[in-house]
Amino acid sequence: MSFDSLGLSQELLRAVKQQGYTTPTAIQMQSIPAVLNGGDVMASAQTGTGKTAAFTLPMLQRVNDGAERQRTPRVRALVLTPTRELAAQVQQSVSTYGRYLPIRAAEIYGGAPMGKQTAILRRGVDIVVATPGRLIDHLERGNVQLGGVDILVLDEADRMLDMGFKPAIERIVKTLPAHRQTLLFSATFSGAVRGLAQRFLNAPQLIEMGGSNAAAEAVEQAAYLVDSHRKSELLSHLIGSRNWHQVLVFTRTKRGADRLAEQLERAGIRAQSIHGDKSQGQRGRALNAFKRRSVRALVATDVAARGLDITGLANVVNYDLPNNPDDYVHRIGRTGRGGDHGSAWSFVGGDERRQLQAIQRTVKADIPLQVLEGFEPTQRRRSGPPPSRRSGPPPRRPSAAAGRSTSSRGPGGPSGHSSRRPS
Ligand code: AMP
Repeated sequence: MSFDSLGLSQELLRAVKQQGYTTPTAIQMQSIPAVLNGGDVMASAQTGTGKTAAFTLPMLQRVNDGAERQRTPRVRALVLTPTRELAAQVQQSVSTYGRYLPIRAAEIYGGAPMGKQTAILRRGVDIVVATPGRLIDHLERGNVQLGGVDILVLDEADRMLDMGFKPAIERIVKTLPAHRQTLLFSATFSGAVRGLAQRFLNAPQLIEMGGSNAAAEAVEQAAYLVDSHRKSELLSHLIGSRNWHQVLVFTRTKRGADRLAEQLERAGIRAQSIHGDKSQGQRGRALNAFKRRSVRALVATDVAARGLDITGLANVVNYDLPNNPDDYVHRIGRTGRGGDHGSAWSFVGGDERRQLQAIQRTVKADIPLQVLEGFEPTQRRRSGPPPSRRSGPPPRRPSAAAGRSTSSRGPGGPSGHSSRRPS
């Protein structure tokens, strides 16, 4: 199937073609016609599956059609996202895909000066992409009116709920017309997400993409058992010996992120950290340096990394395992995007085996625990089968996730890669 058959306008097809996309991803095939039809949509899709274009393209088309019919300027579409990074990325997609349309959009999030955002909102925009807290600040100051919104998008709804945005979303939705189109995208359909959908969506079309762990299936996964105090050394060793030019590393705490970035720098590896205590400017600069590859390792906490889209990122390291297995799925979804090859490496301290087991249950895959020669743990094991011993890169193994076929891979990738298009 090609993009031409989805009902998109020539302007949008031109922009899509310029991006080099030839075939719509599975979520795009289902979501684009459904959104163009005007009904509500509830879709389970990870980042990395092409979900941003799945709602942005038809949203742009509907906003443009509406704007052509009535010349009155007003906010016609509102996208709510959990983090600034995701808001900035969605806004980037809006401007990329909408480059041949006369549509103005604004990105509104905290950590950036109010003044500039206020000026943009007051000049008038067609689309607002916002994090809930900062949008409420602008609503309270009368900088923006949302009474003319035709389309509401709740992006990464599960994450917004996890981050405690439910009351803020409720407040914002109260300012919107009852008669509107609402689209909800979420990695998982938890009870809380379904509850949100019941409140805000009207007879939505359900789109479920091959279970909620699609991103996890597209990425090769490996785990190393290692003493916690030697994790930094193991990371430097892998970066050097496997010649990783760009690696995104997750730590559990902000202090841990700063400390690790310093340790890597001392080991001669250019590294920076991003987390919630850094200003938006600092986060943006670190991210850009990483994208330009002048920084080799970006060390991030979960919140800071939510929604990051780094084209061609090949390696993600879980330096600390997350307590919430859903965070693992989000983390590894930063790689293996748009059908690219991606690898996820987890460092498992003696006291983190339980988290690994929970993660394996969530991703429905066996992630074999291995020991790298020279990094044998000295801490006493608690439970579980003995890890296998490896001196080189781990072998391939069939993917346990969804029974997909394995593919060959280049040297240095973890085992269990299932080669597939994003779904
Ligand atoms: P998303 O899930 O929206 O974060 O998108 C993941 C990545 O896939 C982004 O880098 C997009 O640019 C890319 N992408 C989106 N749609 C397609 C497509 N149809 N073909 C190839 N790449 C795509």
